[in-house]
Amino acid sequence: MPDTQTKPKTVNFTKKTKRMNFHVLGDRRMILVRQYWKYNYSEKKGASKWTSKEKKAFHKNIEKVIRAAWGGKFVLDVDGDSDFAKYYDKKPFSVKFDIDPKNSGAHWTIQAIKIPKGGFSRSWVNWGKQTIQLDTEDMVEVNKGGGTGVTQSGAAHEFGHTIKSPDEYIGITFHRFQKKSIMHSGMKIKKRHAKYLVDQLNKMIPGTKFKVTKVK
Ligand SMILES: [Zn+2]
Repeated sequence: MPDTQTKPKTVNFTKKTKRMNFHVLGDRRMILVRQYWKYNYSEKKGASKWTSKEKKAFHKNIEKVIRAAWGGKFVLDVDGDSDFAKYYDKKPFSVKFDIDPKNSGAHWTIQAIKIPKGGFSRSWVNWGKQTIQLDTEDMVEVNKGGGTGVTQSGAAHEFGHTIKSPDEYIGITFHRFQKKSIMHSGMKIKKRHAKYLVDQLNKMIPGTKFKVTKVK
């Protein structure tokens, strides 16, 4: 079909949820997912007190790791009978992620734990309570039992839980054998990891459905 569809008046849409905000930016063919994080800092035995410089660097590094792992990976196509869907037919969208520190009204509260270099502390995400525990070793990629050469950074994995992707190293699905997946022991993003995002996007624009066509 020839490209005669006229551009709709509105191509930008925003949806705010408890855990993240969604921005559909038509002109940039981009979906921006933004989370506001409030940091609480503590130290584990053997670690020195957080300095303000370290606090800043911690957030910067987390965002860097998450963006490298997740940013620009999902390619979404638009389908449906809305003007938006018709105009953006065969014009794919990419998905970018933003994490901004915010002290009041944040989506997530982060327990940031400083631990001794090379140490270990369990990290987790509690979806219901909107809390995340991360430590100063979570930006380092380490082998987590996924096989030779398969490494993962805790921050990138835990971020997957904030977009509602479950762990894949437990349970009875075939995902249990995909050790390179970011929700298992590696860094590989899979289409299924966008499920929650797509479900939310599909409630934003009447007559418009997004679908992951590939992962870059
Ligand atoms: Zn996990």
